This record gives sequence, structure tokens and C-alpha cells, in this order.
Amino acid sequence: MAMTEGHPALKDIRVLERGWLSSNNVLISDETGLTVIDSGYSAHAEQTEALVRQALDGRRLTRLINTHLHSDHCGGNARLQSAHDCEIWIPPGQWSDVLAWDTDALTYAPTGQRCERFVPDHALTPGSSIELGGRPWSVISAPGHDPHSVILFDPREGVLISADALWEDGFGIVFPELEGISAFSDAAAVFDLIESLGARITIPGHGRPFVDMKLALIRARRRLDAFVADPTKHARHAAKVLIKFRLLERQKEPEKKTLAWAGRLRYLHMIQERYFASRTWQSWITEIINAMCQTGALRRDGIDLLNM
Ligand SMILES: [Zn+2]
Repeated sequence: MAMTEGHPALKDIRVLERGWLSSNNVLISDETGLTVIDSGYSAHAEQTEALVRQALDGRRLTRLINTHLHSDHCGGNARLQSAHDCEIWIPPGQWSDVLAWDTDALTYAPTGQRCERFVPDHALTPGSSIELGGRPWSVISAPGHDPHSVILFDPREGVLISADALWEDGFGIVFPELEGISAFSDAAAVFDLIESLGARITIPGHGRPFVDMKLALIRARRRLDAFVADPTKHARHAAKVLIKFRLLERQKEPEKKTLAWAGRLRYLHMIQERYFASRTWQSWITEIINAMCQTGALRRDGIDLLNM
């Protein structure tokens, strides 16, 4: 964190860097109180609330903003809302799905992820701007990883909140592609758009804030090009990410249990049927887990599978 901690552009911004199960929480303060951007995964909701409460330091949590509605970005919404009675702002694309709490449309059910129900108050509309820290931030549509995601940019200080559209080393799964909707080009266009912003510092959805945008874009484009050239690479990567997410939450469980869980996941079956239809489910899923053990993402210990 040495390079970004204390960066002049982050003077009224605090980044609670979390990990991969929970997204980062970005706290921006002004005279009226604090705004939190993204609230982590539900399994960490209690920890998120404690971290945010500590950071409040007596001030009020007035607003909670979500860049997008993946379970690792809004899993703490319900808890923060009930503890602080804060407003919740979400991108408008899935407004009615959230009101109806349609866990299929919100992808929590097919991906086997949890998210506690919450009620939004305001739409964070792309093309608009929102006042954070006493200055306007542009709300920018950032499809690719998620068709409804937004990113936030403060042109005055040059701060970009990039969610899962761009990380220091990579970017989030391009989910629509897995569902048969072309979106690699959306991700590429978002990289171009981000480049045009000329951010001085970027706070990603996961990982530390970074200043070397040039390098991040080289890596991201290289990775995206490889996925475009061979979409099965992306599909295999996505399967690994979903399994890793499960083990991040469980840390350790009998492999049989992981396999049974995977067997119930509609999203994994969809990936297998779309990209690896010539393989049997059993041989494909076993190969994925074997590959994860070989690269050290997981480890086998007797009957158990361990997160590494
Ligand atoms: Zn995401």
C-alpha cells in the first residue's frame, strides 16, 4: 500500500481493502457524513459493519452506493442499512429485480451465492453525476463484466472507482458471454473509455488502489485478447472462479461436498453445456478441480478440499 496510502488524491477517501470474497469498501466523507461504496459479501457482513463503524469515528453513514449487484459487492447492504438507516443507491438496470428480489435474475441462485435482501432508495443513473466528498463524480456505464455496472470518476482529483471492470492485474469474468450474449467487445470498449479518463489513481473492486494505469491496461487487454481468441479459456477461468469463491467461503470441506454443490449449480452446467458439451460433467468438473490443485489455488488433504 506504500505507493497509494497517503496519495494526495485520496485525502478524504478511505479504502478498506478486503479480498476476493468481499469487494473493497470505499469510504468518502464530507460535512454531512460518510458514503460507502460497495459492501462486500454476506458472509463478511458483520465484519464489514464493524470496519465501517470504526471508520465512521462518530460521523453518520448517510449513503451506501453499489457499483453493481454481484453478491460480493452488495452482501453487506441489508446489515448496513438496518444498522445505520442509510440510503441505498444502485445502478437502475436491475431495479425491478431487486424490488421483487428475483434471485435468478440477480444470479445469486444459479451461481450458488448468498445475498441478504435489501431495498434500494435511489437509482445511480449512468450519465448523471453524484456529489461525493463535496465534489461531483461522473457515473459511467461500464458493461462487460456486468451489463448494469457503473464506475465512478472524479475528474477534479483524477480518482477512478473501477469496480470489476478493471483491476491492477485483470478484470472480472465477462458474465454475459457465458450466457451466450456477446460482451467481450463491451469490456474492450470500457478499457478504452477508462484510458481516456486519464485517472491519477484507481480504486478497483478488489485489490489495492493503483497508479500505473498503463500497465493495468496492457495486462487487461492481453488477457481479453486471449479470451477472444479462445473463449473456452474464459469459460474454464469462470468455472474456476465460481469454485474458488465457494472454497473462499468454506475454507475447507470434503471434496464430495464441493462436487455435490457444483453438480447443483445451474451456472456451471450452463458453462459445461455451452463450451464443453463433448465432455461428461464428471470428467469436466474433476479436471477443473485437478487444475486448481495443480496451480495451488486449492489443495487436497485426504477427503478434504482446502482453500489456499
Ligand atoms: Zn462483480
